[in-house]
Amino acid sequence: MPYRPAPGLTRTTIAAVFVTALAAAPPAPAHAFTGGNHESITRAALPWEPVTLSAMADARDGAINANDHGGYFLIGPLHCDNADYLAPGYVRHYPRSRDEATTELLACVRTSVARFRNAIRAADGLVDAHGRVRADQSDLSSPCTWKETSDRAKCDVLEQLGRGWHQIQDFHSHANWSDRTGPGPVGLDNPPGLARTDVAPFFDIRRYSTMEDADWTREARALVPVDLTTGCYSDFDSTGVKSDDCAGRVTHNRDLNKDTAASHRSKTGDNFGRAVSGATAETTRQWNDFKAALRTTYPDDRRGEQMICALVHDDPASSCP
Ligand SMILES: [Zn+2]
Repeated sequence: MPYRPAPGLTRTTIAAVFVTALAAAPPAPAHAFTGGNHESITRAALPWEPVTLSAMADARDGAINANDHGGYFLIGPLHCDNADYLAPGYVRHYPRSRDEATTELLACVRTSVARFRNAIRAADGLVDAHGRVRADQSDLSSPCTWKETSDRAKCDVLEQLGRGWHQIQDFHSHANWSDRTGPGPVGLDNPPGLARTDVAPFFDIRRYSTMEDADWTREARALVPVDLTTGCYSDFDSTGVKSDDCAGRVTHNRDLNKDTAASHRSKTGDNFGRAVSGATAETTRQWNDFKAALRTTYPDDRRGEQMICALVHDDPASSCP
């Protein structure tokens, strides 16, 4: 049976509404690692065969970049935006609370959790009941289209994974997780850098995908460092509010993004390289966690193992006997 995506993301409905409005709008400014940076990060992270890897990674047409197109572009949680916060001591008054910032970050995590669950379900269509790869469901001889409509099972899995990993890569560009603090006093235009080199503990998507949302949300909230911030961006936050000027807040555009090596924040030390390394390690972790979940979800007749084989190979019918 062809896989039918579950209605996991109410945000996609919001996206559909905005697609029409955006059709007439001028091109949006660069936001998020450029498509080319998402591509190089994704290629470095995944040991996949070339056609499959391009379907995921391509700078323009890859699933990893689907969230940067159409109405999805202006939905803040799909890019880990608007989780901005500065503690008292750095500024006299910050217009957002730690809790509000964390809520936006958790909204971003939640979009990934929903995609992970969808991807696990979609993978079921890759392999028959006896563990044999279904050739028609893993054929990429014509390109996948990332439209959230049921396609070949492999396209559906790639779309769900790409739409769930994009924001995690963006996090490394948009947050101060791996940054060094810039020269001069800490403030709105120079948020503290956390200088972390590990993967972020609150992106334990595989674990969260098996839990009640209220439970993992509580757990993840406690793991967010007090000085973590992403940038305010003129898109819609999880409450549907759009801040056009981001006045008095740490901003994506001016202060924090490492979308390109030329951004202001990228120029402190190796902040750009640190963001790229973090995003690459994170993508590898997410792929490894997805494989582990397939093995435990579909243990019979090595079906999970065959699903992995079908995902990484360009011609699974011959590569996965
Ligand atoms: Zn993005």
